[in-house]
Amino acid sequence: NHVPLTPISFLQRAARIYPDRTAVIHGARRLTYAEMADRSRRLAAALHGAGVAPGDVVAILAPNTPEMLEAHYGVPMAGAVLLTINIRLDAAAIGFILRHSGAKLFLVDREFVGVARVALAGLEAPPPVIDIADPEGPDGAPLGPTEYEAFLAGGDPDAPIRMPADEWEAIALSYTSGTTGDPKGVVAHHRGAYLNACGNALAFGLSPRSVYLWALPMFHCNGWTYTWAVTLQGGTHVCLRAVRPDAIFAAIAEHRVTHMCAAPVVLTMLIHAPEEQKRRFAHEVAIATGGAAPPSPVIARMEEMGFAVTHLYGLTECYGPATICLWQPGLEDMPLPEKAAFMARQGVNHPMLEEATVLDPDTMAPVPADGRTLGEVMLRGNTVMKGYLHNPRANEAAFAGGWFHTGDLGVRHPDGYIEVKDRAKDIVISGGENISTLEVEEVLYAHPSIMEAAVVAQPDEKWGEVPHAFVTPAPDKAPPTEAEVIAWCRGRLAHFKCPKRVTFGPLPKTSTGKIQKFELRQRLRSV
Ligand code: ATP
Repeated sequence: NHVPLTPISFLQRAARIYPDRTAVIHGARRLTYAEMADRSRRLAAALHGAGVAPGDVVAILAPNTPEMLEAHYGVPMAGAVLLTINIRLDAAAIGFILRHSGAKLFLVDREFVGVARVALAGLEAPPPVIDIADPEGPDGAPLGPTEYEAFLAGGDPDAPIRMPADEWEAIALSYTSGTTGDPKGVVAHHRGAYLNACGNALAFGLSPRSVYLWALPMFHCNGWTYTWAVTLQGGTHVCLRAVRPDAIFAAIAEHRVTHMCAAPVVLTMLIHAPEEQKRRFAHEVAIATGGAAPPSPVIARMEEMGFAVTHLYGLTECYGPATICLWQPGLEDMPLPEKAAFMARQGVNHPMLEEATVLDPDTMAPVPADGRTLGEVMLRGNTVMKGYLHNPRANEAAFAGGWFHTGDLGVRHPDGYIEVKDRAKDIVISGGENISTLEVEEVLYAHPSIMEAAVVAQPDEKWGEVPHAFVTPAPDKAPPTEAEVIAWCRGRLAHFKCPKRVTFGPLPKTSTGKIQKFELRQRLRSV
């Protein structure tokens, strides 16, 4: 009597309970849950008609649009695996991913058809392309009947849905950015997707009244959480094509957004937006941040602006947010700086569903709970990926000892919480001492004239490495000098942790708003 867990059931449930509720808003477009379910079922049937078989990979290259959202249901309803591709990738990287995954069909938003065609030209057996023209495209002009709409029209909405025979079957595939080698394809299964959505819906307080603003791309692992979690509750998705502070503030006001997720860098953008764009909201706006460490001054300023901040930690390999800083008795009564510091530190405090710990990767024993000894953050449970696609060596390393190795360094505190100190590849080792770049950045973000900061290792003859700070001054303040920044750190940090040099200017970012430290390190090497 066992029914496999699958997020497909979330859409069926929402369509049954709330057929007329708005499922998705995109510019002037609105789709109800009944319409979204109908379109997803048509997509599944059309894919089947196009020869897509259970287990096949269907790729999509699209920004946050209703079509992208419905693909998260329609593709699994055909028994196929949805491959979401980062829209910022170049043709060579897209070609690699299509070849490696063996994608059988490629859904491409009109804006990206050019790069897709170049990517396909290098393949021996290119998959057929279906052009998704978005009526809310960059110029906003209606495009009339499109290839994708004709494709959907050919699918029978009453054709049977192919439910997974086994909940460990793959549902989705997403490639890591591959900064340290070829990208790796992370395979998600139905069970993990279902449970991760349940865990996040509970922890983030999603309800049928929730209106979720997409400020992170759906092709990122957030698309493995909130496409499913918001629908599970019958909430409304609001898509933005361009993530800018003015558009975010306007969308929150217009649609009474209740929940959103954003990388800390987007929070910084909101804090430093021109005053005329900023708004305060009469209703509560819950914002979950993660993907990189949110400095406590950023959390504090967001709270001052009226947002209710939640700190999440996670990674693609565990379907996005895996752990959360949960509400604690007395949290509201803490003075804001103390509350923000508590939240910044405790992002890994409560695993939503899996177990999280910090182990010595050589012995696989827990590190002492002394708040000092570094080990690797490790996870295990139902919401850890199925594995990397066609990559036994990477799988062996990632799951050595029965735990998933995150590649993040952390400590255990005496009262039981885990704190992430740095990525293993980002930590600075100076004269044999470990320096958490997150700790130095926390101090830099507290400087009133600094908007963004990133600290990386600079090779040094005497110390091996020394910290180098890259800083973007706040737009509305006089920029600090290098000496002032160093003196600010010296007043707050041990001497060896203070940056030896400071470079001013904009910081390179990923499509999800993470600062690209590897690129900053390369800049230092090429000086
Ligand atoms: P890629 O694997 O594609 O090179 P990535 O490592 O950024 O990029 P993601 O899965 O998007 O891939 O990000 C996961 C990583 O982000 C984590 O391993 C961790 O280093 C970092 N991270 C996520 N949340 C937090 C957080 N709250 N605090 C500190 N670091 C975080």
